[in-house]
Amino acid sequence: MATTQTVLGVEFPSQIFINGEWVKGTGEPLDVYNPATEELLATIDTASVADVDLAVKAARAAFETTWGLNTPSATRGRLLFKFADIIEANSEMIVKVEAANNGKPTKWVEAELGSSLAAIRFFAGAADKVSGSTIEVDDNSKQVFTRREPIGVVAHIVPWNFPLMMWAWKIAPALASGCTVVFKTAEATPLSVLILTKLMQEVGFPKGAFNLVSGVGKVTGQALAEHPDVDKIAFTGSTAIGKHLASTAALSNLKVVTLELGGKSPNIIFSSANLQEAARWAAFGLFETGGQSCIVGSRILVQDTVYDEFLKLFVAAVKEIKVGKDDDSFYGSLISKVQFDKVLKYIETGKKEAKLETGGGRVGDKGYFVQPTVFSGVTNDMVIGREEIFGPVASVLKFSTEAEAIAIANDTSYGLASAIHSTDASQLPRVSRKLKAGTVWLNCYSPLHPSVPFGGYKSSGWGRELGMNGLEAYLTTKTVHQYFGEDLQWPFKL
Ligand code: NAD
Repeated sequence: MATTQTVLGVEFPSQIFINGEWVKGTGEPLDVYNPATEELLATIDTASVADVDLAVKAARAAFETTWGLNTPSATRGRLLFKFADIIEANSEMIVKVEAANNGKPTKWVEAELGSSLAAIRFFAGAADKVSGSTIEVDDNSKQVFTRREPIGVVAHIVPWNFPLMMWAWKIAPALASGCTVVFKTAEATPLSVLILTKLMQEVGFPKGAFNLVSGVGKVTGQALAEHPDVDKIAFTGSTAIGKHLASTAALSNLKVVTLELGGKSPNIIFSSANLQEAARWAAFGLFETGGQSCIVGSRILVQDTVYDEFLKLFVAAVKEIKVGKDDDSFYGSLISKVQFDKVLKYIETGKKEAKLETGGGRVGDKGYFVQPTVFSGVTNDMVIGREEIFGPVASVLKFSTEAEAIAIANDTSYGLASAIHSTDASQLPRVSRKLKAGTVWLNCYSPLHPSVPFGGYKSSGWGRELGMNGLEAYLTTKTVHQYFGEDLQWPFKL
């Protein structure tokens, strides 16, 4: 197989990257498609179990000799800043290839790359802000302090919905903290990270600090999860695979696990809300990327006194959403035939369970485009009220009291995000305290920021990404006790 490929005029490697070199992956070759056109874009190498072992060995060697505590933290930060500048200078080709691989309108990929650069720069700046503490132990002959040290070799496994952002959110804090990385992209969207890895070679990271093993979950991902010399696994994806990885990690070497999983997030509209604004935020917070995001507000809870008025405004806002490949489209195609079929099946279930207000089918006859779809009269016991659809499907529910809204909002196994729309200044903090979710947005939906921690309660995950919490997730604590008192009395006298 060729060692490089050309997609839309951009030439980049098709192999895997181990110990600073592009090498042939000995796994099954992987075909990669454009979901908006259903055309084959490229065929790339994948990593076998043996390749994963080589990548972990390279990462271990780099951790012990050249990276980790062997490179000053300020140097690690400086290299990440340099990397961000190199990526920015090459953003056009990254965006072009990623938009084709993901089926997203270009402007969304540009925004995603912008957020990814912001995350890399945040962690570059954070690299040398790590410190331990001195602890008073009420003993004049002792001092005790803690050191914050990198965990070691980290495996990253990511999904297809935000390939650039997921990559940046994971590799930047890992490398900033001194960990070394073995990274696995999602089957459907491996292309942009191949380009980013090629650019990484210009930066000057030591060999083995970053390794890329493209591949399928059951082979490459599973080998990373089982590997006895991986110290931590950081995963984003479905709750089912997250649970599987946690148990695999426990049964192998008890590696540390952080998980960013699914959601069925409530977006609560109280009667005092500015209904026009709330309707727009509700549409934005759900149909962004065609609903293919873990944070989407897919359960819209509306107070009975304004239910009809809100529904009218919301459906009108949704009807204005343009779907397609063009740059003025709000969202593009779903990622794959599998995801497309799954979402259409949920829509058919919804038609039996609730009232279809708008949408309900595909757009066009080529590519995996689905109409923005709204169901009203949904309740939490319906399939479309409980399960994560991961597509452009809104479920609108009705409540009468604040207590009922909180009970419905929390009646889910997930706890990733939530939002409250109200103009009552005391209601906003009161309700936000009672919601069991990692993020609560007040009178808005979706904003994230690299300096703000992000993660879930309950089955939405373990740990936090972004912010200083995101860096902490790659550090462990060493406690040092130093004795400087008189010589130990011998034999002991108590
Ligand atoms: P997934 O959880 O199946 O895959 C995510 C990653 O895990 C991929 O890289 C995959 O190769 C890997 N993986 C799969 N099986 C593995 C195994 N046995 N061992 C190790 N790694 C493994 O998610 P998906 O197929 O990409 O999407 C399925 C569903 O997951 C979606 O419908 C959606 O509900 C959810 N999802 C959630 C998020 C999120 O951000 N929380 C993102 C994408 C998908």
